[in-house]
Amino acid sequence: METVVGLEIHVELKTESKMFCACQTRFGMPPNSQCCPVCMGLPGALPTVNQKAVELGALAGIALHSQVQAQSRFDRKQYFYPDLPKGYQITQRMHPLCIGGFLSLPDSGKRIEIEEMHLEEDAGKITHRGASSYVDLNRCGLPLLEIVTKPMLSNGQEAYVFLNLLRDTLMMLGVTTGKMQEGALRVDVNVSVHEAGTPLGDRTEMKNLSSFKAVRAAIDHEAARQMKIIASGEKIVGETRRWDERGGYSVSMRKKEGEQDYRYFPEPDLPWLHLDPTGLEEMINRLPELPEAIQLRLIKIPGMAAEKAIQLSNAPALLACFDAAVKIAPDAKKILNWLLGDYRAIAKKNALLPDCPPFTPDQFAALMHRVVAENLPYKDARAELEAISK
Ligand code: ADP
Ligand code: ZN
Ligand code: MG
Repeated sequence: METVVGLEIHVELKTESKMFCACQTRFGMPPNSQCCPVCMGLPGALPTVNQKAVELGALAGIALHSQVQAQSRFDRKQYFYPDLPKGYQITQRMHPLCIGGFLSLPDSGKRIEIEEMHLEEDAGKITHRGASSYVDLNRCGLPLLEIVTKPMLSNGQEAYVFLNLLRDTLMMLGVTTGKMQEGALRVDVNVSVHEAGTPLGDRTEMKNLSSFKAVRAAIDHEAARQMKIIASGEKIVGETRRWDERGGYSVSMRKKEGEQDYRYFPEPDLPWLHLDPTGLEEMINRLPELPEAIQLRLIKIPGMAAEKAIQLSNAPALLACFDAAVKIAPDAKKILNWLLGDYRAIAKKNALLPDCPPFTPDQFAALMHRVVAENLPYKDARAELEAISK
């Protein structure tokens, strides 16, 4: 049997103010110190769209090869919960900001396709302590980008690699802080199993996993659980399960709610969102080389392992050194040993930054040329590397 996984990722956008009001977004402030009538949904309060949030959402869309829509729109999703005083969440259901897209995994080159990406607002936070529950609405109305993948990941490890690439990409662009411990990136996983070539199986969902490692473990565990159930002749029930990270098991929380429960309708207080095509064009032109492209380019070099390509794609200064060196000393494996092995050891010893060497790419390349082309003995090369690492 095959495992099928789809991810829904909530990314907190890195803005100064909230999605629809001027409240601050700083993390860790005293409870309920960053709210106003708009994000608390008091009668008569009117939302206005945060332009920066839209720009960051569009930037993410471009980076993920998604079709950024010239026109999108907000809808109301109604539900009742104490962390949502408005009684509804403003989200994009019918006309999302971005449609389609993909990211390619470095090791296999497999394209993980994106269904859509939409803007929405976050809900507040509830903490249960003893017999009491505490409501903090500071998070209410924080800008989120929800990224929905197609059901095409095959196991926990693929999801793990995908999520790391996604986070690295979004962090490089300043779309999000990516800080999972602050809830800036939250992942829901959908898992099903089926016989290859047959329709997809019924899925279960696990929400708000707190780390990519937890995502990987939860997926593999859930797939094994489902396969066992099917092998025993029973059926999978569509439900939401909670992953217990300490115990390494999941428990059923509730049966899946139907779509109609939310009574979606167009948000009457917000007009259509129109994007300026020249603004998008400028964004595309300003884009740096992103981790996906770097990894795909590096992986083609003989002697380059996926894991090393990933490391370089997240360390621009090291990448510059590598790129300069491999041009005049075409031995990727040796260069990687010097850059990620010897230099980092020196950095550790002398309290230097492991990802930001003090030498220039040209200095490093010249040394590598002598190592590769002139067979400079290890001891001498090491001494020279130490000398330029000052
Ligand atoms: P819903 O509307 O109930 O949220 P969607 O069709 O929008 O369902 O899918 C939500 C997520 O679930 C997506 O990430 C999608 O890839 C994933 N998904 C859908 N069907 C399956 C399945 N059979 N197995 C695994 N994941 C699935
Ligand atoms: Zn507010
Ligand atoms: Mg959905």
